[in-house]
Amino acid sequence: MFESETAFIDENRIHTILTTAQRDIQSMPREAILHIIEKARQAQGLSLEETAILLFSEDPAVLAEIFSAAHAIKEAIYGRRLVFFAPLYLSSYCINNCLYCGYRRDNHFTRHRLSLSEIAQEVTALEAMGHKRLALECGEDPRECTMDYLEEAIATIYGVRHERGSIRRVNVNIAATTEENYRRLKAAKIGTYILFQETYHRPTYAKMHPVGPKAGYDWHTTAHHRAMRAGIDDVGLGVLFGLYDFRFEILALLQHAQELERSFGVGPHTLSVPRLRPAPGINLIDFPHLVSDHDFKRIVAILRLAVPYTGLIISTREESSLRNELLALGISQLSAGSSTDVGGYASASRASSSPQFSVEDHRSPDEMAADLCRFGYLPSFCTACYRQGRTGDRFMTLAKTGEIQNTCQPNAILTFKEYLLDYASPDVRPLGERTLQAHLEQIKNPTIRALTLERLARLEQGERDLYF
Ligand code: SF4
Repeated sequence: MFESETAFIDENRIHTILTTAQRDIQSMPREAILHIIEKARQAQGLSLEETAILLFSEDPAVLAEIFSAAHAIKEAIYGRRLVFFAPLYLSSYCINNCLYCGYRRDNHFTRHRLSLSEIAQEVTALEAMGHKRLALECGEDPRECTMDYLEEAIATIYGVRHERGSIRRVNVNIAATTEENYRRLKAAKIGTYILFQETYHRPTYAKMHPVGPKAGYDWHTTAHHRAMRAGIDDVGLGVLFGLYDFRFEILALLQHAQELERSFGVGPHTLSVPRLRPAPGINLIDFPHLVSDHDFKRIVAILRLAVPYTGLIISTREESSLRNELLALGISQLSAGSSTDVGGYASASRASSSPQFSVEDHRSPDEMAADLCRFGYLPSFCTACYRQGRTGDRFMTLAKTGEIQNTCQPNAILTFKEYLLDYASPDVRPLGERTLQAHLEQIKNPTIRALTLERLARLEQGERDLYF
């Protein structure tokens, strides 16, 4: 890979935009900033320059307007649905030495790679919680975590049937690899290929990734291009906030998203916003760019304004009260009941006892679903788009025309109904049923509403996996 292939991350331009915004914000009338937010409210996105202005604004009135607009955009495009998923850690072997990660090779602990039967046990435990969508995670190790192993793991996951449970979408978060390997992942029927950039800032990237294949900035940064060339329609980007200046990272993330849209006609399916967490061998005092809760909320809201049609994912790295606040600022997917340890779901004793990072929100999917219902949200376990071929630009077209309301809302209702029938605790079930009714009434199209009612009745009678 040549550096020119990652020229789309234009550090000089980012620094110029940030310097200009920092200067201009001093004399910019509030109305001019509110005008930017008003434009974003129409789901038109933000330019890099506009994003930078919002990132520097500390005016409480402007901040309130950013939060209000983020909330409104999320509701207009995604409604009050929130999609659940869980990470599944396959292997803690890693030949990289990323300075922020508990799995890094200099950390000494008993590493483990799940056997296929252990994977089946993990998936059984996840299905018993009601999960339908997983994100596979593993360290990078060409001997321990081969593509053959991953293919077998994915086939095993799709094959596990625990009572009424099944995993319907396997997203994959593995190290940057070759186009040929992405083709194999596509053939294995993965959903989204997710790869976090960690940091877009080259000098920081070099410092954080001193050795191993991940040290190659260009190889890493062009991974999504190879994945999309291999036919994977849905890719996910992410930054690990806390490694470098968050304003720089956001503009670079947007440059990356714009580049994918330019090259493939569709931008990233999702953005993840992990924040640096304590982990074995990591002292947060060594990281001067940690992001405060205040700034983190601004990051989420401004991203929602900047890329209105892209899913925003929050993990259990954040503690529950902050996660609750973030839901109102544009988040559309969340993990629940997560373990970041290899073997952490089925048996604590088999776990490596060295998680990749610490989990802060310990609510089970049942507790999370109950809280979401109380806050007026609709928990969703939907995986239909990927299975119906509504991926890539087809999904984006649906989202942009508002047609998504006729599929996602009923699908959320149907999958949450399945959850209530098969997994919910007796306490949560009545609350969930009231939530379902309230959201059913919001389906405007009478035909879709009637079809949803008919399918709800079929679910009651024992059918499963009904979707639009
Ligand atoms: S971040 Fe990934 S590649 Fe880096 S040490 Fe951790 S598991 Fe390995």
